[in-house]
Formats: sequence, C-alpha cells, structure tokens
Amino acid sequence: MNTKRKTAELTGLVLRAGDPNFEQSTKGFNAAHHDNEPPRYVVFCQDSDDVSNAILWARENSIPFRVRCGRHDYEGYSSTVPDGLIIDVSELSWMKVHRSADGTPESAEIGTGFGMLDLSEKLWRVGASLPLATGASVGLGGCALGGGFGPTSRLFGLVCDHILAMDVVLANGELVRSEPEGEYSDLFWALCGAGGGNFGVVTSFHMRVQHLRNCVAFIIGWPWHVFEDLVDRWQHWGPDCDNRIGMHLSLKTDGTITMVGQFTADDHELHQVHRLLAPLTDPLPPAAISLNTVPCVEAARLFYGVDQRKPSWAVHTHSEKQLYKAASSFVTEPLPREGIRRLREQLDNAPALHVDPSQPIMVQLLCAGGEIRKPNPKNCIAHRDALYCLQFDGFWTDPRDEQGVRQWVASSRLRLDTWTKGAYVGYLDDDIEKPPSKYYGESLPKLMEIKKKYDPDNVFFFNERHNVPVG
Ligand SMILES: Cc1cc2nc3c(=O)[nH]c(=O)nc-3n(C[C@H](O)[C@H](O)[C@H](O)COP(=O)(O)OP(=O)(O)OC[C@H]3O[C@@H](n4cnc5c(N)ncnc54)[C@H](O)[C@@H]3O)c2cc1C
Repeated sequence: MNTKRKTAELTGLVLRAGDPNFEQSTKGFNAAHHDNEPPRYVVFCQDSDDVSNAILWARENSIPFRVRCGRHDYEGYSSTVPDGLIIDVSELSWMKVHRSADGTPESAEIGTGFGMLDLSEKLWRVGASLPLATGASVGLGGCALGGGFGPTSRLFGLVCDHILAMDVVLANGELVRSEPEGEYSDLFWALCGAGGGNFGVVTSFHMRVQHLRNCVAFIIGWPWHVFEDLVDRWQHWGPDCDNRIGMHLSLKTDGTITMVGQFTADDHELHQVHRLLAPLTDPLPPAAISLNTVPCVEAARLFYGVDQRKPSWAVHTHSEKQLYKAASSFVTEPLPREGIRRLREQLDNAPALHVDPSQPIMVQLLCAGGEIRKPNPKNCIAHRDALYCLQFDGFWTDPRDEQGVRQWVASSRLRLDTWTKGAYVGYLDDDIEKPPSKYYGESLPKLMEIKKKYDPDNVFFFNERHNVPVG
C-alpha cells in the first residue's frame, strides 16, 4: 500500500532545473548525448511509493517521463525528456538474502538500483554470485530487463534467467508482484527481456543466486596477421566449447586481438583450462598469454577495470565521460571467409582520428552458446540460437571525428548484414530499421498485446522507434 500517497505529488529526492547538482543529475553515461534537451525534473526515488507518486504526478500534470537506473542507455533516452521528468531508481539498492537450512544463500531480494560492480561485491560478501554484465556502473534495472549476460552466462544463463519474481509499479501507480505463474505471468514474460522502459517500473527483483569460489581469469593476445584464421577457428570452437568458459574476442584498430574471459570450476578442475583452450591456442600460438587463478570476485574486478595490477593492454577503460556509438547483430551460422575478410577490411579502414580516445575503435565477438542457448518459456528473449553477438564500438574525443566514427559503426554492421540478424536491446541503436523486430524477433506480436493490456495509453514511452508499440 502506498502510505505516502495523498494527492499525486513528487516524493523522494526531487531536483528541479536550477537546483544545485541538477545539471549533473541529467547526464547519462554516453557523453555524446550530454547536449540533448534536458528534463525539468529528476526524482531519485527512495522506495516504490516514490515511483508510484512520480508516475501519478506526471500523468495528472501531463508531463512526459522516462525511467532511469544506471544511465547506460546507448542512445541517451533514459536521461533526456525535454521539459519532462526522469524517474531515477538508482537509489533503490538494498539486498535481503534467503538461505537454505545449512546457511547456503539460495536467492536474494535485490533493489533494482545497484550498479554491477557494487552488486557483485555485495553478493560475494554473502557467498553468492550472478552472471552480471562487465560494465562497472551498468544498472541492474536496465541490464536484467534487457536480458543481461556476463562471463558466467554460458554456465548459468542470462541475468534475466535468474529472476524468480519482480515488484513492478504499473502505469496506474499500482505496485504488483509479477511471477512466472499467476495473475501477472504475462507481464513477467515481457519484462524479462523487453522490460526496459516499456511496461512499468521494476523496483526489486527476487533472483536465484549461484555459488562460486575460484576461476582462471585469462587474457590472451594474438598478432594481427592471424586475424582471419583466428576468427574462423574461434567461431567454430567458442560457442560449443565447455560451458565453464566464458569469453569475448576483441578486434581493435590499434592492431591488437585479445580474448578476455574466465574458466569457472571447482578448484581441483581449474588445471583443465590449458586443455580446454588448446583447440585455439595450439594451432594459433598466442603472442601473449596471462592465466591467473583468482577468486571469482577478483576476476569481476579485472573485467570492470578496477585492478591496478592489471596489465595496461587488457584494461577495459569504461570512462565515466565517454563519447561513443555502438551497434550490434547476432551471428547464428559461422561467418564465411568473405564475411571475416569484410570484418578485417572494416577495421583496417576505420577512420583516422584527430585525437585518440581512451579506447580504440573495435569489434567485439561476445560468445554465446551453453546455457544461453537453452529456451526459457518464462521469458521473451529472442536470438538464443546465436553463436555470438557482434558489437561494433566507435569512440571519439574530438567533435571533428564524430561523423566519421558514426558512419564507420553503421557501415560495419551493414557490411556484415548478409550473414547476421537481429540486435541486442541492451545496445540500443538509432540507425537500425524497425528496432523492436530486430530486438525481440518472434516475441514482438505478443509483447505488443501485453503492452496494450498494461500500458494502453503508452505512458512508458521513450522513443517511437524503439518502444514496444501498443498492439
Ligand atoms: C560500458 C558498458 C558495458 C556493458 N556491458 C554489458 C555486458 O557485459 N552485458 C550486457 O548484457 N550488457 C552490457 N551493457 C549494456 C547494458 O546492459 C544496457 O545498456 C542496459 O540497458 C543499461 O542499463 P542501465 O540501467 O545502466 O541504463 P539506463 O539507461 O538507466 O536504462 C536502460 C533502459 O532500461 C530502462 N530501465 C532501467 N531500469 C528500469 C527499471 N527498474 N524498470 C523499468 N525500466 C528500467 C530505462 O528506461 C532504459 O530504457 C553494457 C553497457 C555499457 C555502456
């Protein structure tokens, strides 16, 4: 019950245009959108009642609103709504662990607001883990509701595969519990994969958790001249390799090829990593190889780029002020040699920049298969059959480089189009045609019906091209 609700008014920490710290509160992670028209209000919700009040207040006053958690929306929509309201849930970060009789954590109720690094540290302290994304400040809200994958997803599935229930504030301000069975099971299905900004505001998740100890974190580098053989071998090996290996291959315009990942297993099995990587490393000897047995939380810190001891060539510099454009697509059949050649040509012909950004332009091959491939009728995730996801990442610092980088990202995706399909909703992309069908595939018609049922007035609206349309 909403105890704070008297009339619809904003509650929580409310900032208005002109207030100290207001401007900072309107900035998303992608600095390329920092000059977009700002909102007029930002409310940092402290509980579900604040969320409910914000929705009711906005509706009563005909003020457009958007929902925001970790601010990582690639196209910046979650931080921009001209003259409108941002409903920010990032301060809903609390956790309650449920344990079995012997004290083992079985599941956790988790506020939606956590960033990935904080959440993985907090879970680790209670003896639990989730296959979280590798961007340190990515929000649990956006990540889990778009699917969410991390280094242990081939072993355990996606983040959304771990959701047992969600608390959701609906368009009418009502707080409901959505579960795979029961009254809100259709909503549950839709939220798990298409939930970002479309149907309601998730304020907390009940998730089953995993238990991990140690892993072998690996960073392996190859010289550029093996590009075609390596990509070909990797794509035939990776998606079907042992599920305990999770990794991605980064092909960068600075001429480096690196595979970063982890082998997660019981301590007495960790030595197997050499044998399991051999199908790749034997025929194509690496130029550099680093294998470290570490607690899994330490591996997560490495991927988040927070370990000072990490070799500089492997650092994921996810700067808090990054200008970038990204695109994605899924590969379901191995790329033919011609496709791999095109990939290399794109990288070889990437624009020369006036000023080098902290990250080189790159293409990442994010390995799927394993548990990710298993159908899950409880959620709407499409593209589970993918071997891997291609992510095209362009960065710049100097405004003179922006156009060239944007064109490079778009043309890279298009040049591979013949052999790819779909796009990952976590990597929202303004340049693609019919985004919802790309993100959701065959799930889209049912998602549109569910949108009509729960949000017929389309108040959860952030963009006419990307939103799930009202059916
Ligand atoms: C550096 C970086 C690294 C990344 N690494 C990975 C990775 O390893 N794996 C992966 O799967 N993805 C990854 N991503 C993608 C990331 O998961 C998505 O961009 C995700 O949508 C970001 O969520 P957010 O909460 O941070 O962003 P926000 O911009 O706050 O939200 C994203 C969308 O979700 C909606 N939303 C957020 N919270 C809620 C909520 N509680 N209820 C309803 N709607 C909500 C917003 O309205 C918005 O539409 C990465 C992104 C970046 C920038």
